[in-house]
Amino acid sequence: MQSEIKQCQNCKQDFTIEPEDFNFYEKINVPAPTWCPECRMVRRMLFRNERSLYKQNCGLCGKSAISMYDPEKNYMVYCLDCYNSDKWDPKDCGVDYDFSKSFFSQLEDLYKKIPRKVLYQDFAINSEYTNQIVYIKNSYLCFGGHHYEDCAYCAQNFFLKNCLDVDFSSKSEFCFDSFHLRNCFRIRFGYYSEDCMDSWFIYDCRNCSNCVGCTNLRNKSYCIFNEQYEKGEYENKLKELNLSNPDNLEQVNKTFWQHSLNYPRKYANIKNITNSTGDDMEQVRNCRHSFSVTEDENVNYSFFVPTGGKDCFDIDHVGLGTTETYELHSGFGDNRVFFSNRVYFSHSVEYSDDCYNCENLFACAGLRKKQYCIFNKEYSKEEYIELVSKIKKQMDEMPYVDSKGRIYKYGEFFPIDIMPFAYNDSVIHEYFPLTKEEILNKGYKYKEPEIKNYKPTMLAHQLPGIEKADENVLKEIIQCEHMGHCNDKCTIAFRIIQNELNICKMLGVPLPRLCPNCRHMERMKLLNPPKLYHRECMCDKTGHMHNGKCTIEFETPYSTKRPEIIYCEKCYQQEVY
Ligand SMILES: [Zn+2]
Ligand SMILES: [Zn+2]
Ligand SMILES: [Zn+2]
Ligand SMILES: [Zn+2]
Repeated sequence: MQSEIKQCQNCKQDFTIEPEDFNFYEKINVPAPTWCPECRMVRRMLFRNERSLYKQNCGLCGKSAISMYDPEKNYMVYCLDCYNSDKWDPKDCGVDYDFSKSFFSQLEDLYKKIPRKVLYQDFAINSEYTNQIVYIKNSYLCFGGHHYEDCAYCAQNFFLKNCLDVDFSSKSEFCFDSFHLRNCFRIRFGYYSEDCMDSWFIYDCRNCSNCVGCTNLRNKSYCIFNEQYEKGEYENKLKELNLSNPDNLEQVNKTFWQHSLNYPRKYANIKNITNSTGDDMEQVRNCRHSFSVTEDENVNYSFFVPTGGKDCFDIDHVGLGTTETYELHSGFGDNRVFFSNRVYFSHSVEYSDDCYNCENLFACAGLRKKQYCIFNKEYSKEEYIELVSKIKKQMDEMPYVDSKGRIYKYGEFFPIDIMPFAYNDSVIHEYFPLTKEEILNKGYKYKEPEIKNYKPTMLAHQLPGIEKADENVLKEIIQCEHMGHCNDKCTIAFRIIQNELNICKMLGVPLPRLCPNCRHMERMKLLNPPKLYHRECMCDKTGHMHNGKCTIEFETPYSTKRPEIIYCEKCYQQEVY
């Protein structure tokens, strides 16, 4: 089969469907997509809200609970105790399929009726304000990933302890305002670094300690802006820099990013990859256009697949040996799950939401250990097969058409209209932030910021220095310096918590002047986007394998408009070792 160029139904840009893609669609018996890979990723991630939290009363016990659902949208929401109890049965929401109505409008009715968990939280101890998370203890405002202890304001991490404002990291302790760290200890403002300790402002460093403002270092200590010092000299310099002072810190921050541009960057953050394109990949084979994937094989157009997916297309936030799966947001241990959200340890499931340990489901929600169900009603195997094939046919004959004219037949993920979250309440806004006008123009849902009635007791610049700060600061309501004048879901005011004060004191970092959401978005602006550009290595050094300029081409998240020097893997390795 040949590749084919199609126009995306959503963004109207052309995209290419490769022969390997066609082979997969044929194998799993679905039509080729009508949305481009990026629009498909956006659409799936609209089903993921992590940090837009509301207060809503439980639909069963009536108690007030923290919830990821906007109460104005009238979803049926249960608190965790009620949801996990036997006081309700998802099969009570079961209905007969109505061939006179469109499939997706009936699915919308089911989605409105089915009780939903306020938050996705499992094995959580004393960690009320956390979401999309498992195995978490004594933590606050952490989202995504697993195994957190005594952390706050972190997202998408594994095995983290006593960290503040850390994203996309693992096995690290006492780190602050960083992302992509591994095996790090007492790092403040560290990025893409491993096995480092006791440092400030490091980018792509390995096995370094006691460094400030360094880029691309290997096995070094006592360096400042990549210059080697004696231990005593370093200590004096560090004292002079006085990084506990917010103004000094801001100055060094600026100098660091400027200085960092003098050093080449590898075209993508990759390690042990074979025949693959994307960014943030490790130990993968034959993965195309995928981001944040580890130990995967033939996983394409996917995002955040950290543990062993195989033969999958279009999956995100999926792990643990998922195979032959297509268009799934959030799953574990699945086989042949298509067009679904939060399906765990299941196989042969389509168009379903929040189902565990199930097989042969079509358009179900909230089921556990069930089989042969359609719209939450159980059938015999024969009835199930016949009805599913009739429904698929009807989906093509009577497609759902949304207000923007986008057509949803069988083979399309959920329409934007029937997904519960607004664009700016979902995580996609963190990767591709849009203004209100852009969100509405593109036909996504927009949520007006809630009017907050906080009365700040202190402005950010009035915060005491970290040496002087004591427990009195925990009582203050501090005004975020953005004061809501940003597109970062600013909460306008925030508090300092006890563990945060302890960690900031121990690390000697100033107390934050921005609210947790604004801090997170400031980091997200430094992160490479899940997007690829075709470029050529910028190296023109002599003594490398090339004569004149290196001509190796690659797919990179760095667009040509960016100021960084981008090298292919070979040239990078010649310079950084
Ligand atoms: Zn598109
Ligand atoms: Zn803010
Ligand atoms: Zn090169
Ligand atoms: Zn070179």
